[in-house]
Amino acid sequence: MPVESALAQLAALQNLDRQLREKVQQIEHLRSRLNEGRARIEAGRQLVSSLREQLQALDLKRRDLDRRLTEEDAKMRDRRMRLQRVRNEREAQALQREIDLGRQANQQLESEMLQVLEALEALEGQAKAAEDDQKALENNFHGESARLEEELERLAGEVEQIRRERDRLAASVDAYLLRRYEQIFERREGLAVVEIQEAICGGCHMNLSPQFFIELQRGDDIRLCPNCHRILYFRGDRGGREA
Ligand SMILES: [Zn+2]
Repeated sequence: MPVESALAQLAALQNLDRQLREKVQQIEHLRSRLNEGRARIEAGRQLVSSLREQLQALDLKRRDLDRRLTEEDAKMRDRRMRLQRVRNEREAQALQREIDLGRQANQQLESEMLQVLEALEALEGQAKAAEDDQKALENNFHGESARLEEELERLAGEVEQIRRERDRLAASVDAYLLRRYEQIFERREGLAVVEIQEAICGGCHMNLSPQFFIELQRGDDIRLCPNCHRILYFRGDRGGREA
């Protein structure tokens, strides 16, 4: 196969490979956006469930305080009844002391109850806000992920199509040359074939010697840039075609 057409094939192959590379990067980008979204949803779920657990624990505490307050009330009623039946001053004093202690205990419980009720109210507000946020987040993500999945599907279809075209083209390229091209493409960030018009490598911008450039234009052989080892492609008949 003449050097010129072999190089034209490689340039066309590179065009497809670059499209593939770009689409694969887009796919990766979309996947990571999906994953980030899922991670945010999961973090939100954990926050909501942790707030709910805190609410439950606090509510248990409230019920416990409520029960103890009821018990204290009952004891206090009992003491008052006993106060009416005391037989002497000593008994009256002892009972009065019990009543005072009971009152203190009651005040303590009531102040604890007040704190718990305040904390409950604050926590309920927090949980409600977190749940609303979560709902909005999940709604947004639902729409966004559907769009992203659709986009991913479209890209996957395009990749498959380009890959088929690429494989067909690659099959007609000399196996040794194809391997060299692929190695350079990998090593040189997706630019293995450089089309040039002047004696400068478009890959690494090194000046090519006049002698080298003359040989290259003659097109007898495939030549690599002496500096970056990319495949140089001098196309004489550049008539608006882009590779
Ligand atoms: Zn170069």
